[in-house]
Amino acid sequence: MRQEIWKTCLILALAGLIGLVVGYPLLVMLVITVGVIIWNIYRIELMRRWLTDAKNNPYPAENSQFHELYRLINRRNVKNTTSKRKLASYLKQFRKAASVLPDAVVLIDEFGKITWANGSASELFSIQWPSDLGVKFTDLIRDPDVEKLLENDFIEATTEQRETKYTSKFNEDITINIRVAQYTEKLRMVIGSDISNLLKVNKVQSDFVANVSHELKTPLTVLKGYIDIMLNKPDLPTELSSIVGQMETQSNRMELIIGDLLYLAKLESQNNQATHKPVDITSIINTAIETIDEKLTEKHLKLELDIDYKLKILGSHTELHAAFSNLIFNAVNYTPNHGVINISWQQSRDSLSFSVQDNGNGIPESQISRLTERFYRVDSDRSRGGGGTGLGLAIVKHVLHRHNAILEIDSQIGVGSKFTCIFPVKQTPNQQIQELS
Ligand code: ADP
Repeated sequence: MRQEIWKTCLILALAGLIGLVVGYPLLVMLVITVGVIIWNIYRIELMRRWLTDAKNNPYPAENSQFHELYRLINRRNVKNTTSKRKLASYLKQFRKAASVLPDAVVLIDEFGKITWANGSASELFSIQWPSDLGVKFTDLIRDPDVEKLLENDFIEATTEQRETKYTSKFNEDITINIRVAQYTEKLRMVIGSDISNLLKVNKVQSDFVANVSHELKTPLTVLKGYIDIMLNKPDLPTELSSIVGQMETQSNRMELIIGDLLYLAKLESQNNQATHKPVDITSIINTAIETIDEKLTEKHLKLELDIDYKLKILGSHTELHAAFSNLIFNAVNYTPNHGVINISWQQSRDSLSFSVQDNGNGIPESQISRLTERFYRVDSDRSRGGGGTGLGLAIVKHVLHRHNAILEIDSQIGVGSKFTCIFPVKQTPNQQIQELS
């Protein structure tokens, strides 16, 4: 820059000298200045031509400030081209990798229109790439649940709200688990996995458990009958009466386990949502309290109620009764003498919640996530001793799932536990009436 200024000053000085010699210094300086301006405009024009078409307009080999500019621009161009090439190669690699994935991957924009799809998308969704570019995903996959899934706000959505199951319209045997992930503010990735085999295996497994339970029912009834006869015998030797008493306790336990297993199998076999009738939760709570009344007195437990007596919910009375009474029985079972149990049933702005809180022994944090598994017990002896089957919370989880609800478990060793069933507010009868009107 400095060199260029000195050059211009020198030219003007020379022009001034020549002007003095010829007698018109100002005129000569003006002519030379205009000449310098025109020369620079010409050099800018050369640079413009070079920028638009470098191949046919190589930059001039002059040693000036402009030459430095050419060099810098050229260096940046080379850098950009290299990173562009790199990016294009990464994109190519990514698309190649995604195309061989067994899962269908479809990228959609903010309006739900397809921007890219891999090979498996044609198998699972019948989406053809690139011919379906710009077509709305829900125009090809017509399903109310999928439409609802894509309407969700993904930043806020829970994991469960980000996926749904879809049965292929072309082959009813194919069930696809559809998940949606938001990868930029506006773009989303739809991932479809074929879970037909997994569902088949699960079905075989639960059918097996249901059949075994059913088959055990008859011999157990016969055994119980004989145990009853023996217990009612007045001449039963005393050394046998305690043995037969234990046989009765164990056969009753077995009956409870079989009953719970059959109930779970029934819940699992019903894929649809639970019936939608207004359920009076207060009456369920009252019935459960009547059942535990004796135990409350025996263990000197204090019961606190925080109940909205008018609040009803749409669902199945039998299923909700099974779930809520399980939570209440557990609180009574796992709270030591003189403990306090709080049962709450309330509505907040966007949810309804039923909770049972106790100040019992609590559950170690590492085990909380496993509590809803079948037969999972924190303390097996205590559970069996209290008459537990190990299936109660599995039943609660299934019932809640069928009511669009979730189970939240908070527990701390030595402080107590709180089990909360959270239902969406749309599950209230009033809300449905409002939505219909
Ligand atoms: P169970 O019939 O054994 O009670 P559940 O499925 O109802 O089976 O509960 C699973 C396990 O969770 C129980 O065995 C117990 O260890 C633990 N649990 C459930 N509720 C409570 C509670 N209120 N306090 C402490 N532990 C609990």
